[in-house]
This record gives sequence, C-alpha cells and structure tokens, in this order.
Amino acid sequence: MIRHLPLAAFVALLAAGPQWLPEFHITLLNYIGLYAIVAIGLVLLTGVGGLTSFGQAAFVGLGAYTTAWLTTQFGYSPWATLLIGLALTGAVAFLLGFITLRMGGHYLPLGTIAWGISLYFLFGNVEFLGGHTGITGIPTVSLLGWELKSGDEFFYLIWLVVLLAILGVRNLLDSRQGRAIRALKGGGVMAEAMGVNTPRTKIVIFLIAALLACLSGWLYAHLQRFVSPTPFGINMGIEYLFMAVVGGIGHVWGAVLGAGLITVLKQWLQDWLPHILGQSGNFEVIVFGIAMVLVLQKARDGLWPVLLRLLPASARQRRLVDAEALPRRSPAAAGSVLLTAEGVTKRFGGLVANNNMSLSVQAGEVMALIGPNGAGKSTMFNCISAVNPASEGKIAFLGESTAKLRSRDIARRGMSRTFQHVRLLGQMSVLENVAIGAHLRGSKGVLAAALRLDRGEENRLLAEAAKQIERVGLKEHMFDAAGSLALGQQRIVEIARALASDPCLLLLDEPAAGLRYQEKQALAELLRKLRGEGMGILLVEHDMDFVMGLADRVVVMEFGEKLAEGEPEAVQRDPKVLEAYLGGVE
Ligand code: ADP
Ligand code: MG
Repeated sequence: MIRHLPLAAFVALLAAGPQWLPEFHITLLNYIGLYAIVAIGLVLLTGVGGLTSFGQAAFVGLGAYTTAWLTTQFGYSPWATLLIGLALTGAVAFLLGFITLRMGGHYLPLGTIAWGISLYFLFGNVEFLGGHTGITGIPTVSLLGWELKSGDEFFYLIWLVVLLAILGVRNLLDSRQGRAIRALKGGGVMAEAMGVNTPRTKIVIFLIAALLACLSGWLYAHLQRFVSPTPFGINMGIEYLFMAVVGGIGHVWGAVLGAGLITVLKQWLQDWLPHILGQSGNFEVIVFGIAMVLVLQKARDGLWPVLLRLLPASARQRRLVDAEALPRRSPAAAGSVLLTAEGVTKRFGGLVANNNMSLSVQAGEVMALIGPNGAGKSTMFNCISAVNPASEGKIAFLGESTAKLRSRDIARRGMSRTFQHVRLLGQMSVLENVAIGAHLRGSKGVLAAALRLDRGEENRLLAEAAKQIERVGLKEHMFDAAGSLALGQQRIVEIARALASDPCLLLLDEPAAGLRYQEKQALAELLRKLRGEGMGILLVEHDMDFVMGLADRVVVMEFGEKLAEGEPEAVQRDPKVLEAYLGGVE
C-alpha cells in the first residue's frame, strides 16, 4: 500500500489542480502532459528498447494535422479523426519502421532525422494543409456530452491519457512481451535464440511510440484549436528525446519528470535569459545543450533514478503464485537421433573455423565436444543453433534440415542453448532472465499485457522459471539481479533459462567453467537426471574429469576439424588425441 502513496498523492494533486492553480500553470501543465505522452513512448522505444528516434515530433504532427484537416474541411467528429489519425500513423510508422529499423547503429537515428524533416516539410508545403500558416478553427472535443472548451477542462483529459499511458507501458514492461522488449538492448542474439522475434518486437515498440505521439498531437490540435508546422519540426523531435533522457531514459515516470523539467526550464529561461543577456534569441537551446551534457555525465540514467534513491526502499520482491504447470512437448523416443551435422564448414573471411565437421546427438545421451581453445567448438554450436549459420554442410534437427531456419525457429522446435560468454540481462532478476527462456511457451501479446489480461499465463511462466531455478539450485538468488551473481552461477542461470523452454536437445557451452567442486558435482547430477528423462545434451567442456565421468560419446576437435570420435575410454587412449592435448608426451 505504502508503495502506492506517492502515486495517490500525485493523482490527488492533479485532480485538485484546476481548483487552486492559476490558469497559466494549468496551461503549462497541459503542455507538460502532452509532451510526457510522447516522452513515454520514447522511454519505451529508446530507453528500454535502445532504438533512438529524433523523429517523434513528426508523428505528433501526423495526429494533429489529420484531425485538423478532417474536422475543419469535412466536419468529421474528433473521435472519428482520432481513430483515422491512429490508423494513418500506424501505417506510416509501420512502413518507416520496416525500412529504418533494419538499419543498425547510427543509421537508425539518421533515418529518423530524415523522415522527421520530410514530414515537417510536407506539412508546411502542402496547400490544402494551409502551408506555413496552418489550419484554424479546429472544433472542441466533447467527452460524454461534456464539451472541453477551456484549458482547465482539457487538463483532465490530457492527464487521464498520461496516467493511462504510464499504466499501460508499465504493465507491458512487466510481462512476457516486456521481457522480450527489455532484451532488445544488448541481448538481441540471446533473445532470438530463446525464440523472440526481435525484428517484430522492434516494430511493435516503434508503433506504440508513434501511436502515443499521434495521440498527443490529436490532443494538442483540439486544445490549441489551431495547428501550424512549427511544433512538429526536428527541433521538437530533439527536445522530446531530451525530455526522455533527462528524466530517466529507462523509467516510465522519468518521462513525466523530464517533460516537466524541460518545459518549466524552457519557460523560465525564455523569460529570464533575454533580461540577463540584454538581447533576445533562442539562448535556452544553448543552456539545454550544456545541461544535457551535465546530466549525461553525472546521472547517465537520468534524474528519475536519483529521485527514487531518495525514497525509502520498497520491498520489490515479487510474489510467486502457485500456477498450473505449463504443457510440455512430447518427448523424443529414447535413442532416436535428434541432431545430425554433416560436412559443416564455417569461414570467417579467410579463417576456416570449422572444416568438414560432423557429429550426431541422440535422445537420452550426453555427447561431449572437446578440444583445445580456438578449436572451433563454440563456432560449431553457433552453426547448429543458427546463431551464426554454417557456410556449408548439412544440419538436421529432428529430421528437418535447418538450412532455412533462424535461431528462433530452431528454438521453437525444441533446441535450447547456453553461451560460453554469458548472455544475461544483468539488471534484470534471475527470475526474469530465466522466464525469457519460457517465451515460446506463452502466447499473450502486447495489448493483453498492457491491459493486464495476461496474468494467468504470466503466473504460469514465472512458476515455470522458478521451478527451473530451484532445480539448478539457485533458489535463494531468484530475485537478485543476474549481474550480481558470480560468473559460475551466471552460467547455471543460463542453463535454467535454456531448460525453461522445455527443450529436447540442450547445447551447453562450457557450463562448468568457474564452478567449485561441489557445484560441478551438482551440475553433473542434474545433467544425468536430464539424460535419464530422455533429453539429448551436447556439451563443450574443458574439465576432463567432468566430461569423462558424464559423456556417453566424445568428439574431439582440433583446428576446426574432427580429430577423433568414440566412447570416452577409447578417445582418451587415442594417440592423436594425446598428441593434441599433451604434445605427444606419452
Ligand atoms: P573454441 O570454442 O573451440 O575455443 P571458437 O569456435 O570460439 O573456438 O573459435 C574458433 C576460431 O574461430 C578462433 O580462431 C576464433 O578466433 C574464430 N572465430 C570465432 N568466432 C569468430 C567471429 N565471429 N569472427 C571471426 N572469427 C571468429
Ligand atoms: Mg568456445
């Protein structure tokens, strides 16, 4: 309850606002609300998703101009034009997103600048949109028969939208889809290997951000009852990004804080700087630039986390609810062949990391892939799981060629893996990291998550994650940030994550590295148990005692090629293997 006190106080203050605040402050708050709606979208897109957009102002313009034009020229109801505006923005954003989101690195921000500028000039130069003079005479909005004529009245509508947007985005982030979104920044490869469709997820958050911007534009048009191109230019696009960054790029409430700070500061600077400097001009932009650099220097995550630290730490532990177990896939017949790789070659430019490699894994066996560092074992894993597909060769999983499959398709068919260089989301809890592994065992979408209609499924996913965490022996770390664990334990978290997908084939890349003796024993025990249940396990490991005590068959690699294959005892006696490992001492 205590946790919700600040929010309740904030809402109460807002609700009472128009009774006691002067009109000028209400106007300011209206603008803060409008900007915050756009900034909330940017927190999701840029802060959480890692996709930088300078072009959000153009979507605000799209929402504003659609309603301005259709209501004044054709007498449409504002509510109808809201829907049309959202549909139009959705279509434009889908198209732009489809083109620009595929561009990596700095191409995306550049792309957003390009379309931000294009749309701005479109508004200014199309005759029927009023050119640079804009459109006047936009009608008021009526809500359930209540006409919102004044800023005071509009205030309620704006802040209702702000609060709903915050609630929706927060709900979304705390869900199956939300975990996929949070994995985009820095965890794309891992997310794909866990079955997340990352290109689709990027488009989804791009659309949400654009639709929120459009909504803000619609509100703006009916508040002002006048639109011109100026507020939808690239300057404003940059300012929106400022707001999100200054407020707290990864925090939904930071958007409100940022919008508030920048708006008030701008107002204040515009009033005072000309007095101080004795001449007029847009000096506030310079101050903003400097302030931005300072914030990025001193508080990289923005000001919201700084504010949060002032509040008493609230118990953030999530309650786990008992939930019905998720359905499991039907197991492969014992001894049936799960995986075959034949003639697999992988080149990195001139380097041949895998050369004509072949191996197979059956249900209910542990196959170990061993060899000196740089032999090409991890590369082989990447070929098999299509994280980095082979240049040549045939790989079949469950009798189906994987040549045309992406890593997420292979994950869906029942192969899961860990990474030698641990790929966890360090800020997220162990529970949430492991739950990403269960992504494909849920189906609820973004809308269901935003509206909290996904709780039944979410509880089952989290219960599954918790079960796997317990199984690998990390129960007491369930709610700790994954990044705070020892490296050896982080590898075990990766195993739990892989198990959460209910695989029939498990690929483990050096799972025992960094573990203590007892921990290795426990891991071996777990793997034996999994084997007993019929799972196929392909294992890369350097600890020979560990491998030889566990593996049913061993493939030895050297310089990208297969050196030997067979049962552990035979391989251990193989002179070629001894040569490779011991330099032929014996
Ligand atoms: P292992 O896992 O057996 O230690 P790797 O498969 O990681 O070996 O590496 C095999 C060889 O391929 C090494 O020489 C490594 O430098 C090279 N290699 C691996 N990944 C890449 C990559 N993405 N680009 C270029 N070279 C790579
Ligand atoms: Mg390796």
